[in-house]
Amino acid sequence: MDILFYLCLLIQPVTTMGIEENYRHIRNILPVSVHLVSVSKNRDVNDIMTLYRNGQRIFGENKAQELITKQPLLPSDIQWHFIGHLQTNKVKYIAPFIHLIESADSIHLLSEINRQALKNQRIIDCLLQMYIASEETKFGLTPEEAAVILSSPEYKSMTNIRIRGVMGMASLTEDHDRIRKEFRMLKDTFTHLHSTFFAGIESFSDISMGMSGDWTIAVEEGATMVRIGSAIFGERT
Ligand SMILES: *Cc1c(COP(=O)(O)O)cnc(C)c1O
Repeated sequence: MDILFYLCLLIQPVTTMGIEENYRHIRNILPVSVHLVSVSKNRDVNDIMTLYRNGQRIFGENKAQELITKQPLLPSDIQWHFIGHLQTNKVKYIAPFIHLIESADSIHLLSEINRQALKNQRIIDCLLQMYIASEETKFGLTPEEAAVILSSPEYKSMTNIRIRGVMGMASLTEDHDRIRKEFRMLKDTFTHLHSTFFAGIESFSDISMGMSGDWTIAVEEGATMVRIGSAIFGERT
């Protein structure tokens, strides 16, 4: 074999490492109690199957159209999480199979999820997406808005959704202290909502926070679920 070939292997940067190696590396350092959502947006079914064969079952998508295109092509025991901004007119397409909607951010959306869940004779699990970043472009509720929703008669009458916790995205920054503060804020909100609206309810238990660049901080701050895309699949093109 060509000596140059081996030299190239040795100096290969981390980003071109295989999907399997990236995945196993993260699995090895992620505490077993933390759920790993592998974010497969913009990835093809072959890449998803590579992870599936390695035992991964939870995948996250942020566009309804992309999700409903891929879902029928992939094994039915995959647990699909919806992690992007969800328009109410798209809920009906994902309602038959979605495992968790992580991005519920209005009473209007929750009401439509409840309606479609009822039609499909199922309960749909949701997380409340909270606004924790200091970036105007991000979606999410303030703690006050979440409290208004959870106190409303409309929410209380919804029989077919189950709110399992909160989700948030930290600011896109290199400032780790700021990211840590934002995650801590989300954990505090979770704790407050738990004691105020979900006391004694075991299913309210999830804090989804942390992505490729900040998931280790999120785990330190109490994440029960991390959403990782590019650190597994490589940079998105
Ligand atoms: C894309 C995305 C992720 C994953 O981002 P990476 O940086 O690729 O890990 C996580 N959460 C949400 C809501 C996303 O849209």
